[in-house]
Amino acid sequence: MIQNVGDTVPAINLAELDLAELEAAFAERGLERFRARQAFAWIYRRGITDIGAMTDLPRDLRASLTADFIVNNPQIASRERSADGTEKFLLRLTDGRHIESVFIPDTPATTFCISTQVGCAMACAFCLTGKMGLVRNLTAGEIAGQVRVLAGALDLRDKAFNIVLMGMGEPLHNYDAVMKAMRILCDEHGFALPPRRVTLSTVGLLPALERLGREPLMPNLAISLHAPTDVQRGELVPINRKYGVADIIAACKRFPVRKRSRITFEYVLLAGVNDSADDARRLARLLTGVNAKVNLIPLNAAAGIPFERPSDTAVDQFARILAERDVTVSVRKSRGRDIRAACGQLIVEGQQKSPAQRLATLAFQ
Ligand code: SAH
Repeated sequence: MIQNVGDTVPAINLAELDLAELEAAFAERGLERFRARQAFAWIYRRGITDIGAMTDLPRDLRASLTADFIVNNPQIASRERSADGTEKFLLRLTDGRHIESVFIPDTPATTFCISTQVGCAMACAFCLTGKMGLVRNLTAGEIAGQVRVLAGALDLRDKAFNIVLMGMGEPLHNYDAVMKAMRILCDEHGFALPPRRVTLSTVGLLPALERLGREPLMPNLAISLHAPTDVQRGELVPINRKYGVADIIAACKRFPVRKRSRITFEYVLLAGVNDSADDARRLARLLTGVNAKVNLIPLNAAAGIPFERPSDTAVDQFARILAERDVTVSVRKSRGRDIRAACGQLIVEGQQKSPAQRLATLAFQ
């Protein structure tokens, strides 16, 4: 980070700009559009953060840009590798807050699971991130920055990869930053990520979901359903009291799903809570007429989470009942549980300590 001493105007962080904004910022300085594209390509295709190293820009231009602009990256505070190859990155943001991002090598594609908020306001009963509460939204640059940092650290910048917005946070609760990050990541002058390689997972904030259906850059949609009735879901996903099951299903029926694609319904299986044969039958009935596939996630248990993971037999039985009713179903293989990188296990200590978080922290020491 280079900032001239005596500068009164703080440097603009290029990582917070989509290409149109970057072009506008350069145009203000009398620079042509192709210069902006060159800088954008350096940041995303080559992972360069030092403007001085953008060698196809004239030397004097680089020097003057350096006075006005910086490129900020989240910093890797630590990195842990699971026995199954999954890697969890703890990233430090410029204000000292931390988030986690996960690299999953073969699901079957290479996947980055990235965060959209520090903490989360949704407080789902079985999720550790929910115990943190919402600390703050991530910026578009911090969301896209996770991809830059992981792709760079793992030397995957030139490879095809998928992104799942399934890390910390509720993506539709930070809508504008998430969509701007989509614009940055999908831009043909940068990573050129096809939107179909991105999956956005949400509890179903309805107004935002309707808005998502009108976006030009449309990610795949995953709905965290977790229960077939309002009574059950209300206990697990508190926001259900505002946006109930029937309304979410109706919104999904209207949602403009891409050709040959479906909406994924995530369903965390909790022993004795939502895993009965009746629950499976109710779920199958609920999804009749929806272009759906179900992804069962046997609970990743943790201290402070008052639920248990069902037996493999119970999981199989639940899946079989759905399959018999022509519902496409898969069981999510939990990755990185040994390093607490699996679904619902992302929590960062020392930012906001709820009793459950303290308990969780202690249990993992
Ligand atoms: N906030 C978004 C993205 C979060 S995480 C959402 O709710 O969809 C991705 C998935 O992991 C969600 O379906 C979430 O409900 C699930 N999950 C959370 N805690 C879990 C746990 N302890 N075990 C298994 N899955 C969990």
